[in-house]
Amino acid sequence: MNPYSALDRSERRRRHRRNRRIIVAAELTAIAAVLAAGGIFVGKKLTGGSPEQTATATVPPTPESSSIITADTTAPAETETTAPSPAADLLAQANRLALGYDYDAAIALLQNDAEAAALPEIQEAITGYEAVKASLVRTPISQITHVFFHSLVVDNSLAFDGDEDEAGYNQVMTTISEFEKILQALYDKGFVLVRLHDMAYETTDENGNPVMKAGDIMLPEGKTPFVMSQDDLCYYPYMTGDGFATRMIIGEDGKPACEMKMPDGSVSTGAYDLVPILENFIQEHPDFSYKGARAVLAFTGYEGILGYRTAASYADSETYEQDRAEAAKVAQCLRDNGWELASHSWGHLNLGTVEWERFKTDTDKWEAEVESLIGPTDIILYPFGADIGDWRPYTTENQRFSYLYNMGFRYYCNVDSNPYWVQLGDTFIRQGRRNLDGYRMWKDISAEDPSSRKLDDLFRSEDIFDSDRPTPVPEM
Ligand SMILES: [Zn+2]
Repeated sequence: MNPYSALDRSERRRRHRRNRRIIVAAELTAIAAVLAAGGIFVGKKLTGGSPEQTATATVPPTPESSSIITADTTAPAETETTAPSPAADLLAQANRLALGYDYDAAIALLQNDAEAAALPEIQEAITGYEAVKASLVRTPISQITHVFFHSLVVDNSLAFDGDEDEAGYNQVMTTISEFEKILQALYDKGFVLVRLHDMAYETTDENGNPVMKAGDIMLPEGKTPFVMSQDDLCYYPYMTGDGFATRMIIGEDGKPACEMKMPDGSVSTGAYDLVPILENFIQEHPDFSYKGARAVLAFTGYEGILGYRTAASYADSETYEQDRAEAAKVAQCLRDNGWELASHSWGHLNLGTVEWERFKTDTDKWEAEVESLIGPTDIILYPFGADIGDWRPYTTENQRFSYLYNMGFRYYCNVDSNPYWVQLGDTFIRQGRRNLDGYRMWKDISAEDPSSRKLDDLFRSEDIFDSDRPTPVPEM
């Protein structure tokens, strides 16, 4: 049977619409629950946090170091116009690393070439990087915010066209214009993208047991680390024709790109979603990414990933094998470019409440159908933001946690509207995520009580909100 038959498609549309309605309701419940708990973990010292984690070295940047930063910013352009020398080339490479806050790598690169390292300009650069490095500040991981998005709306007139899907898009999606403004606003405020794996990492304790430790995120004073993620990077069939990209591909430059089927039936390649837009932004602003960090991308499995119909239910499709091979290549390209890949469950289930047997089969199906394509991952972003426990640290008594832990998961993210909610346990880390979508921005804009606004630490929603959106954005 043709998996693209009208019957299947409408069934899937129904199922997904229902899912999305539940998403929103559950996210609101989760937010309300945390608010009711008095945001008890916000800013609080967390289990396993080391004393060093809160100690910060606040050495003001020396005049030399700031002049070097300024000079370095223009260095690559200068080297192109003057006669290229091996030293200039090396300095440009080191500069690129330093712009991404990897001063150790920049210094190592310069010291590696013994001949070059003897040159005065190289020695000066090393001294400069060392001075900047000495002035860096450690951010406590308990104060790191995490923002997330769904597929971006490319064509507002198709997404907001009054059809049955409009309300859902208006609530949980973000438009490209909004996303670009958000990136600029975050950049202007000094936000710097970090990986979840920068926040904490797994190592072994003195007895050889696995243990999670807080990472050392070292940034210049005035810079603020944050994590970004994107959910449901699957380009579900129900979105076709509604103004979204249709799949991800590897572009001619070897970077991830998007394809989009246009209303006239042609297929266009371009920056039609978060991944290529953020890639381009970081190319222009390398100081927006800490040591090459990109966002976390989360996949369900029931319709396949990245716009490829890789789910087992499509096994009879003529393009099934090719879709699986292509999706795996794109996933590898994403990893190679610094993106972190994550589970969003196979069937977009509420993993906190779904019955136990289904929890297990769903998790196994994700491993069989998605992890087999994208490779091992230790991150799970809960569908609906619905956690598998309350705010107290997970224990092995929690059989859902134990199951996910044994599948290799160490990073667990729910949804929470507070600026930050981070819990470092002995064997895991949990973080709350904030939805930057039409629903959340409209809540800020229409708030009667200014103290209920949630996004002002990031941007003013009035400056971002797309005027193409129907208002009011409907309640979930
Ligand atoms: Zn989702």
